[in-house]
Amino acid sequence: MLVGTALEMAGFRVVTAADGAAALRHFREHPADCVVLDVVMPGMNGFDVCSAMRESPDCRHVPILMQTSLDDMESVNRAYNAGATDFSSKGINPMLLAQRVKFLVRAKQTQDQLRESEARVRYLAYYDPLTALPNRQRLLQILEQQVAFAKARQRGLAVLMLDIDNFSRINDTQGQAVGDALLKEVAHRLQTCLRDSQRAPDQAGDSVEMNDINDWVARTGGDEFALALPGIATADAAQVVARRVQLALARPFLFAQQEIPLAATMGISLYPGDAATGEALIKNADAAMHHGKKSWQGGMEFFNKSISTRAAKHLSMEADLRKALERGEFTLNYQPRLALKDLRVEAVEALLRWKHPQKGFIAPDEFIPLAEQSGLIVEIGDWVLREASAQVRRWRDAGWPGWQVAVNVSGVQFRDGSLVSRVSRAIGAAGIDSRMIELEFTEGALIEYSAAVSKAVKSLKELGVATALDDFGTGYSSLSYLRHFPIDTLKIDRAFVRDIASTSGGNAPLVDAIIAMAKSLGLSTVAEGVETEAQWQYLKTRDANQVQGFLFCRPLPIADLERWHADWLHANQLSPASVA
Ligand code: C2E
Ligand code: CA
Ligand code: CA
Repeated sequence: MLVGTALEMAGFRVVTAADGAAALRHFREHPADCVVLDVVMPGMNGFDVCSAMRESPDCRHVPILMQTSLDDMESVNRAYNAGATDFSSKGINPMLLAQRVKFLVRAKQTQDQLRESEARVRYLAYYDPLTALPNRQRLLQILEQQVAFAKARQRGLAVLMLDIDNFSRINDTQGQAVGDALLKEVAHRLQTCLRDSQRAPDQAGDSVEMNDINDWVARTGGDEFALALPGIATADAAQVVARRVQLALARPFLFAQQEIPLAATMGISLYPGDAATGEALIKNADAAMHHGKKSWQGGMEFFNKSISTRAAKHLSMEADLRKALERGEFTLNYQPRLALKDLRVEAVEALLRWKHPQKGFIAPDEFIPLAEQSGLIVEIGDWVLREASAQVRRWRDAGWPGWQVAVNVSGVQFRDGSLVSRVSRAIGAAGIDSRMIELEFTEGALIEYSAAVSKAVKSLKELGVATALDDFGTGYSSLSYLRHFPIDTLKIDRAFVRDIASTSGGNAPLVDAIIAMAKSLGLSTVAEGVETEAQWQYLKTRDANQVQGFLFCRPLPIADLERWHADWLHANQLSPASVA
């Protein structure tokens, strides 16, 4: 009674129960924000009530405070094992106890908010808000399951990519609202073409689900959709589905008493004949579709090996890549990261360039995956670290402002186990402050090799280098590792920045959600890939720390970067002295 009164005086609404069974019943009817539980009660004891509450989904996260008698260590242990959040001994002043409940409730609210933003980020990262279909990222996960399943059972799998013909014309002439409605209707009709009904999207993007091996429709881009069709092994069987899709789309669409005819071009690829991974299946179906677009629209095209002779190309590229280091064919370009508040350069990102003796510059997106597959990235990455550190030193010697240099690190480098010592050697050799180096890695790098990686990240932190999570939002978007890894900065992937101002109303819920969440975790944020004035205008009203993108400056060789910076200071009327 004393406790109840004290809680009421502290502003809580209190529901009391005479015994454990009644408490469980009450809780089911009116979930509470906090439970204060005695140990000795008629019927069920407090430990059993506590365990039972923890099993109910509504109560999993509710703080439970158990009242044990003074100095009873055994009860304290049992309370802990039963899932209690905290305990207090019975002798305690009820007013103090009420204050403790206040703390517990506030902690829970903070956690709830974090969980909510996590769920939201996850939803937005995996589903298309317009059609509620899985997006490309989620499709990749689904295909991963489907490929594994097909492999284990020696079954086939077809991926069908579909692009609406002349959609942009419809959008331009009829307006975006009609365009949106049309996409929704297409999504709906595609779902009717599936053999089993697609379940409503949930927010459990992370678990392996049997559902993943059903048929799926995903929206992979503006007017692009994909069908994942497990069990379809032959071109004939795939064609049957493709026909069904064509028929479903052939009925004219009715909007505001107007009939809009529609056609789509499709590309199909088959597992295992055309490709062995989800990503490659999508790529090949996509290639087939674009090939089809060129010849005639409204048709369908199968992937055909001659469309791509990539495999052979890759082999010779790998041989060249092996020689590139000794021949000194690598260089670094640097792209500035600017403070959002005043557009001063705070850091630069080092981006690798390969100048091939015959083929000229090759983009990192082309050769990094190859370097990763072959393990060459470990040595190449080491060169990048040493070169970036040397650059920090050169700037310092020249009296240039202290720009941090961000270096990209691949998951393979983590797995190799030598990363920490290599970083420390590069920094030592250059004689620079380790704070001046920031390492950027992706969510994938953290998740894939978790145990070793966790140790490596901690050691890097002890070394004093800064850490950033790259391409945030495109990967697993499970925030749990943000709490386990000492990360300083989130880089919001440019895919989300690109969405800013391209959507109607110009809002970017995912960007906002990521910034809010990063803030609540005490991380700073960088918006990557800022290309347009509109994106920049939007970001200015937001709470991110830095911006980076072509709008401000492309990645440049050192000399060009320094020239750009002089012009930049001038154009923005910043004084060089205050930068240092
Ligand atoms: P990233 O880490 O996300 O790097 C940013 C990429 O975005 C760079 O491409 C940069 O040129 C590009 N970018 C910057 N601003 C904009 C913009 O406003 N719009 C658009 N569309 N793009 C913009 P880049 O240099 O081709 O690098 C591609 C990727 O290659 C990098 O993506 C990174 O994952 C990888 N990479 C580059 N250098 C290294 C390296 O030294 N080591 C490793 N492991 N990976 C590297
Ligand atoms: Ca990066
Ligand atoms: Ca990035």
